[in-house]
Formats: sequence, structure tokens, C-alpha cells
Amino acid sequence: MRIVEKLGGSSPAISFEFFPPKDQEGVDRLFATVADLAPFAPAYVSVTYGAGGSTRQLTVDLVGRIQRDVGIEAMAHLTCVGATQAELGGVLDQLEQKGVQNVIALRGDPPKGSTTFVTPEGGFGHASELAAFVKARGNFCVAGACYPEKHPEAASLDADLLNLKRKVDAGAEFLITQLFFDNADYFAFVEKARGIGIKVPIVAGIMPVTNVSQSKRFTAMCGAHLPEALLKKLDAVAADDADAVGEIGVQHAVAQCRELLAKGAPGLHFYTLNRSKATVEILKRLR
Ligand code: FAD
Repeated sequence: MRIVEKLGGSSPAISFEFFPPKDQEGVDRLFATVADLAPFAPAYVSVTYGAGGSTRQLTVDLVGRIQRDVGIEAMAHLTCVGATQAELGGVLDQLEQKGVQNVIALRGDPPKGSTTFVTPEGGFGHASELAAFVKARGNFCVAGACYPEKHPEAASLDADLLNLKRKVDAGAEFLITQLFFDNADYFAFVEKARGIGIKVPIVAGIMPVTNVSQSKRFTAMCGAHLPEALLKKLDAVAADDADAVGEIGVQHAVAQCRELLAKGAPGLHFYTLNRSKATVEILKRLR
């Protein structure tokens, strides 16, 4: 089923994001995580696409397996990095054969060691071009990424939003935000997006803090920020006290999710890092 048809209904769509593990043990752990999260009836789950297309086949296989064997609607991430149009078309062919109907079209980050994205020869330079390419193949529901605190490369939030509008016009039928910890950023972003005619559902990306240095690293990388009040709480406990850090992270995420849902977010997309504990705890408390 096309995911966009599950958004905007009477109950918000809960979804989970996974990444392709490096080895069989990781794959087994991933499926254990999927089993832990399945009782929360996700509208869909998604599997990321490794930097430089390094996980291309694994992403396709995992998405197909989750869709077919677990019976949860699964969305494949696909990036422009290092791929020609023909190669991207080949991935889409495989997804179609596996009955996968949902793709999030991404540009991807520059490969390790370089700071600027270079358009591959015969490929695409922006996610909007990939979105149009996927859309043109017919049956896929296409999603796109967006950034409440601005994409790190964009000169301004307004410029980023104009590019986002291009992506939507090119075929992105719903958007998932980068992780954020301050709902004010999400609400202001949605309002600005609506103001320039972006009408598609904007799903909120949630990543609970489970490890302080990791969250600081992720936020620095993706241009998001950890609010002062949250940092203060985290600073008050030992960084290696996983239970204390985890509890603060869960409490913050629960408060975030409650407000997002109360104010009409069409969905919550949890960046799980292939672990279920924090997400399960948040969803239990939200019930
Ligand atoms: P774009 O939409 O192409 O935007 C990138 C930059 O280019 C922005 O600054 C934008 O303003 C600018 N831009 C866009 N169009 C134009 C234009 N026509 N002219 C000039 N400038 C333009 N990365 C992975 O490698 N694998 C994944 O699986 C993955 N999944 C993700 C899932 C989500 C929900 C999110 C939020 C991010 C994900 N990423 C993933 C990271 C993403 O690839 C990076 O953030 C990347 O730097 C930008 O990708 P994009 O699709 O947003 O690109």
C-alpha cells in the first residue's frame, strides 16, 4: 500500500527507521527489534541506504523481507550518491519485483573524506531529480527528507524551503523531518512550508537521546540542536549512567511526541538505530 494513504487518517502514523547491519548477527538483532516493535502496529518501517550506495543490495533485500515475511509496509531509502540513472533504475526494478511500493528519494551525503556532493556522471545532483525519476516509473509512492533547522548546506531556511517545494512539485508525496528536539522548530517549519504552498504531510522525525556523546555527534552532523534545558538535565547525570541518560531521553521524547500529536503532526518516525528499548518505552508511555 502507498504510505501516503495511511497519513492524515484519524490516528497518527507511527513508523520506525532501521539501517542495514554489517553482519548476520546484526541482521538477526534487527529482526528481533522489528518483532519487539511490531505490536505497536507501525504504519510502515523504512531501511536506510548506506553512504555511497554501499548497502544497496542489503537495503533492497531487507525491505523486501520485512514487507513479505513480517507483513509490515516497508519503504526503501534510495540516494543519488555514486549511481547512474540506469543503476538507480535497476534498484527500482528489484523493489518492484519484491512488491515494495514506497521509496524515500534522497540526495545522500558526500562520500567520506569530501565535503561537497558531486553529481555522479549519468546520475542526479538533487533529491528532487531522483523523486521525479522514481515518480515517473509509475507505481511508487515517493517520500522526501526535510530539515526543520535547515539543511546544513543551505544558505538559509527560506532557500532550503524553496528547494523543498521543488522536491514536492517533482513528486514527493510526503516528507519526513530530520531529527529535532525542540518542537518549536517543527511547528515554525511546518507553518513556513504551508506558507509557500507545500501541502503534503510532514512527518516528525524523533530520535530519543540514549547516549549523550552520540546525540551531540549526530546533532552536530545534521545541523540540529539539543535545547539548553535538555542539555542541563543530561549534564546533571553521569554520561556513562545509561539508565539515567535513557530515562531523560525517553521523558523528553514522550513530552515531544505528546505535543506533536496534540497539535496535529500526521506521524511520528522513530530513528531507532536498530534498537527497540527506548522506542518501546516511549510508545508505552504514550498509550
Ligand atoms: P536535497 O533535497 O537534494 O537537498 C540537499 C541540499 O541541496 C539542500 O541544502 C537543498 O537546499 C539543496 N538543493 C536541493 N535542490 C536544489 C536545487 N535544485 N538547486 C540548488 N540547491 C538545491 N542519507 C543516506 O545516505 N542514506 C539514507 O538512507 C538517508 N536517509 C535519510 C532519511 C531522512 C528522513 C533524512 C532527513 C535524511 C536522510 N539521509 C540519508 C541524509 C541525507 O541524504 C542528507 O541530509 C543529504 O545531505 C541531503 O539529502 P536530501 O535528500 O535532503 O537532498
